[in-house]
Amino acid sequence: MTQWVYRFGEGKADGRAEMKNLLGGKGANLAEMSNLGLPVPPGFTITTEVCTYFYQNAKAYPAGLEGDVKSALGSVETQVGRKFGDADNPLLVSVRSGARVSMPGMMDTVLNLGLNDKTAAGLAKRTGNPRFAYDSYRRFIQMYGHVVLGVDHHHFEELLELHKEDRGVSLDTELGAEDWQKLIEAYKAKVKEELGEAFPQDPLRQLWGAIGAVFGSWLTARAVTYRKLHNIPENWGTAVNVQAMVFGNMGDDCATGVAFTRNPSTGANEFYGEFLVNAQGEDVVAGIRTPQHLTIAGKKANRSTLPAMEEAMTAVFGELDGVRKRLESHYRDMQDIEFTVERGKLYMLQTRSGKRTAQAALKVAVDMVGEGLIDRRQAVSRIDPASLDQLQAEDRGARGEKVILVRTETSPEDIHGMHAAVGVLTTRGGMTSHAAVVARGMGRPCVSGAGDLRIDEAARIMKVRDVVVRDGDLLTIDGGTGEVMLGEVPTIQPELSGDFSELMTWADQFRRLKVRTNAETPTDARMARRFGAEGIGLCRTEHMFFDGGRIVAMREMIVADTTEGRRAALAKIMPMQRDDFVELFRIMRGLPVTIRLLDPPLHEFLPNSRSEMEEVAKAAGVSTDHVAQRAAMLKESNPMLGHRGCRLGITYPEVYEMQARAIFEAATLVKQETGETVETEIMIPLVAIPRELSILKEMIDRVAGEVAAARKMTTPYLVGTMIELPRACLMADKIAVDAAFFSFGTNDLTQTTYGLSRDDAARFLQDYERRGILPVDPFITLDPEGVGELVKIAVERGRRQRPELKLGICGEHGGDPASVRFCARVGLDYVSCSPFRVPIARLAAAQAALADTSAAAHATD
Ligand code: PEP
Ligand code: MG
Repeated sequence: MTQWVYRFGEGKADGRAEMKNLLGGKGANLAEMSNLGLPVPPGFTITTEVCTYFYQNAKAYPAGLEGDVKSALGSVETQVGRKFGDADNPLLVSVRSGARVSMPGMMDTVLNLGLNDKTAAGLAKRTGNPRFAYDSYRRFIQMYGHVVLGVDHHHFEELLELHKEDRGVSLDTELGAEDWQKLIEAYKAKVKEELGEAFPQDPLRQLWGAIGAVFGSWLTARAVTYRKLHNIPENWGTAVNVQAMVFGNMGDDCATGVAFTRNPSTGANEFYGEFLVNAQGEDVVAGIRTPQHLTIAGKKANRSTLPAMEEAMTAVFGELDGVRKRLESHYRDMQDIEFTVERGKLYMLQTRSGKRTAQAALKVAVDMVGEGLIDRRQAVSRIDPASLDQLQAEDRGARGEKVILVRTETSPEDIHGMHAAVGVLTTRGGMTSHAAVVARGMGRPCVSGAGDLRIDEAARIMKVRDVVVRDGDLLTIDGGTGEVMLGEVPTIQPELSGDFSELMTWADQFRRLKVRTNAETPTDARMARRFGAEGIGLCRTEHMFFDGGRIVAMREMIVADTTEGRRAALAKIMPMQRDDFVELFRIMRGLPVTIRLLDPPLHEFLPNSRSEMEEVAKAAGVSTDHVAQRAAMLKESNPMLGHRGCRLGITYPEVYEMQARAIFEAATLVKQETGETVETEIMIPLVAIPRELSILKEMIDRVAGEVAAARKMTTPYLVGTMIELPRACLMADKIAVDAAFFSFGTNDLTQTTYGLSRDDAARFLQDYERRGILPVDPFITLDPEGVGELVKIAVERGRRQRPELKLGICGEHGGDPASVRFCARVGLDYVSCSPFRVPIARLAAAQAALADTSAAAHATD
């Protein structure tokens, strides 16, 4: 027979912490605390299976439930020595929802259930505290009226405010028993007026009303939306917890509070929380009264003048501190707890794993390993890789004037502005748009695609609805959350030290995937090494052409209409390019460096303004009109699918030839200087046709031979390709004939698989996500079914042709935890991501490996 109701109370329970699916998080933990012998007011949990039954049977309850509830209620009555509905000594209960995972926004709580005209009078007499009794009753009518009967809150608030006005007082605490009695009558009249029937006086009817409301709340629009947003399945259902009330508001020997077993913002092993004397739980949250600190240390740290619980209620505090230690050693994790003190006696009302900042998560995990509570595997598995983003916000405080670059969208010309800026804000674009990619690479926070912003560049203002922000106003942006805040918010310097670096070394012991970085500047390369990068997986050489005078030489090369013209311009760029590589090789000594030959649409480099054209004309020794003509000719209507990637190398071989020469000369120079060989990997972008690669490989091999002959020294190198077009995935076996490695360019692969512009999609993808058409933005998290399937095909076909084929990913997905797990599963050798994401990738890679070993362990069980 199915057990629909599980009891718990002081000393024992039917359930356990592991039964969250059946009892919900709250119910399972109440049972667990009872089993631990902690002081939990007795009660029972109606299971999530009843919720499922309820919805499968036209909102009817299973046979036997009513009897089970009655008998569980009976045992609560016996334990506390009061009776439900008894006019002299009434049992009151709370009714709370409790799903498997916490779901704010669902019906939460009804307190003081069981009160009616008679039991309220009885409670007043028995406690000798009529004010308390009638205050409780009016709170009950208000809560029950709102959450169960659907009478809006504001009706009750209004009546309360009117009454206070009549009495000439401003605080609830200034009202006495008679005031509450008057309000009770007014509240009841209001319910009758709104519903056409009286407020229920029968406690059992009240109880079933509340149970029905909790189950009903599972399908409110709010709850449905919340589940959609958080990927919580509809069929999980909620449990209902019915529990004997204890009162924190019966006098000055009563209190209620919330606490964390450690500091949730720093992770320090200190008891952290607040309480209020003579109050009910909702008063703590409502923020009307100033809560007091639990500990004397907390009080001092916050310069509070109110006494701490440690001094005001020493004995109970000691007991609570004991519970704290007990819970931590039992759950082996930081807990978030709720408690009430009724007439000097402590009661525990809730415990659950506490939410914490990234910094606290690291400290708690590392400390708990030191304390012997958990092992390193558990520590590594516990940190959410994405949360490490919080630690990477960069402070540029020492740099004098700080500027945020605000643009509709950024283009290569903005590179200087981006370098000079501490952050970038654009109204167009998404995760992989130019602004985001470049900013991420530089470690600049960037919010791209803030579609509600209107920028008037001429007037130097930006508008968001009614708010106008002017040039010179202070702004703060959070590249992690996409928030744009008016004013200045303090930021911290990122560093990989202390707990962070310790946990990372543990993660490295478990992972199999290597982690490289996408970097082209010495600053980025150094930073990435500090964060633990094991090489460069993508050096986008085009970014090296944006600096100083190079862009002019680059434009000169593009607008040249003869091979000689191009060679002349390239000759200017070559030494600069070679010096860049020398610098990178020095920094990455001994580690592999993947250099991608020129990729972007030439279109992006075209001079736009007349003054830019004049500058290029002067450098090239041609007329400005000639430059303008060439620029017009080279304009493309679909540049992303146009003259870019290896197509440039095929049509203008002198460009790739120059780059290959610069790479080999740099490698030779560094070898001469340091005696160490540099592991270079030359990568060809946007290959779709195997022949493209074989032509270019032949050319690179030839240049390698020429440099070796001239310098009388060879350096090892590999030629490989990016796989970023669907056709390349399908042709992977043929491409692997000439490719020593593949690096998946999943930005372009996502763009071309979906036929979705990576620069424009963010605008409408939000709508797709909201409506559940796409679970997430595929430019952020790799689409495992479509794009991922192509990756799998390429891995399989490529390795079939060449078993030793090196496989990596260098699209933005390389720094996304879920995508990193995918890469581990399909057997890539490494992921490559922007420097600041290297720790995230290291951790995600370790978790992928740990999940694999535990899955394997299960399989052999
Ligand atoms: C890619 O397409 O995933 C890639 C890494 O190249 P880029 O972003 O430079 O186009
Ligand atoms: Mg690409």
